Amino acid sequence: MFSKILIANRGEIALRVIRACRESGIRSVAVHSTADSEAMHVRMADESVCIGPPSPARSYLSIAAIISACEVTGADAVHPGYGFLSENADFIQTLEDHGIAFIGPRPNDVRMMGDKIAAKQRMMALGVPTVPGSDGVTDDQQAGRIAADIGYPVIVKAAAGGGGRGMKVVHDESGLAESLSTARREAALAFGNDAVYLEKYLAAPKHIEVQIVGDGRGKAVHLGERDCSLQRRHQKILEEAPAPLLDRETRHRIGTLCAEAVASMHYSGVGTIEFLYQDDAFYFIEMNTRLQVEHPVTEAVCGVDLVREQIAVAAGEGLSVSDDQPRISGHAIEVRINAERLPDFQPSPGQITGFHAPGGPGVRMDSAVYAGCTIPPNYDSLIGKLIVHGQDRANAITKLRGALSEMVIEGIATNADLFLALLDEDAIRDGSYGIHWLETWLAGQNA
Ligand code: ADP
Repeated sequence: MFSKILIANRGEIALRVIRACRESGIRSVAVHSTADSEAMHVRMADESVCIGPPSPARSYLSIAAIISACEVTGADAVHPGYGFLSENADFIQTLEDHGIAFIGPRPNDVRMMGDKIAAKQRMMALGVPTVPGSDGVTDDQQAGRIAADIGYPVIVKAAAGGGGRGMKVVHDESGLAESLSTARREAALAFGNDAVYLEKYLAAPKHIEVQIVGDGRGKAVHLGERDCSLQRRHQKILEEAPAPLLDRETRHRIGTLCAEAVASMHYSGVGTIEFLYQDDAFYFIEMNTRLQVEHPVTEAVCGVDLVREQIAVAAGEGLSVSDDQPRISGHAIEVRINAERLPDFQPSPGQITGFHAPGGPGVRMDSAVYAGCTIPPNYDSLIGKLIVHGQDRANAITKLRGALSEMVIEGIATNADLFLALLDEDAIRDGSYGIHWLETWLAGQNA
């Protein structure tokens, strides 16, 4: 087993990993930028190293700075959290070259799944259904033919895309050429790769994703699914498990398909296979080769610790979960508390002057904030995740309402009240909301 893990991240996910290290008897090292000197992850870790100025490119994204921090502290493994370097194959390779273990999949799997076109082709070859569209990178002529073939609306997506960026919906032929060229330009700027591809734009799907974990030696299991359909600008803000509209048999069918696919890759570590789900059919969109923000809802209903599972797999100890089908207990919902000012969702960094985390049975708050801390403007706006676990979905909603009312965050604006309003909506209460529901609802509110 590892003796010291360096966490190449910040915020709530850094705390999450530090807690798992403690439980496993492993020392933890925090890294931080100068903007985060007073941050909670720095206070909670056994050791800390300043790795650069506030700019992510010169701190949390600096491979050289993180390797040096490992060498200075003698860390024998790195946990990347999510975002930052978590899906950077060059980083994983560099760690390997320095004899430092990466807590996550092998670089080749990360590289392949990071190219969404290659990922789609791989999944198709493994028998996983995908969204109809282009087989590979498309030029304008091919795109015109394919779009006519699958029918409008279509969506242009960046092969290297992520975080909901780089997507363009095209409603008819007249808008295609321009959308392709804007998408290419934006993708080149944002991801350094201008390859784009085309998919049928689904009218009212749900976003359903399957959690998997593989031991790297050909064994893999699934841990059920999450419904992450509540999105704004293709970004999730509420996630739940199990998916409200899925029956047991369907869950087992899609879960088994995913587990078999990653087992055949000898995949190592946790991962998420994302689908759009419409008219009882699943369509693969992408695979994330890391821990997801929304992993706690799976932990709640499956009773597993996904971070300890990641550490155990990386240390070669194999899987602690071995059942073919997960035992799902009750229902869990997570909401992402962001430092944002509504109605425009403008980032709202600044000092938190008062803070109280809700509690009680089945209530978990993963957050790195405290009264007096400052939210720097340099990073994403997620300041906490509130996760509730009830005996059924109705009970989880009741608990969520109570926990949201109890939570206090003063000094900055947050989106917390939005969730209280949403819990009154029929589509949320009955679980029927799809990926476009929130945008339509928000437009109605602002009209
Ligand atoms: P990213 O890697 O940027 O998160 P994804 O491919 O995972 O991109 O898609 C993010 C979200 O965008 C999906 O959850 C869905 O809401 C929307 N989306 C993606 N592809 C389609 C599609 N073919 N039709 C409709 N919506 C889509």
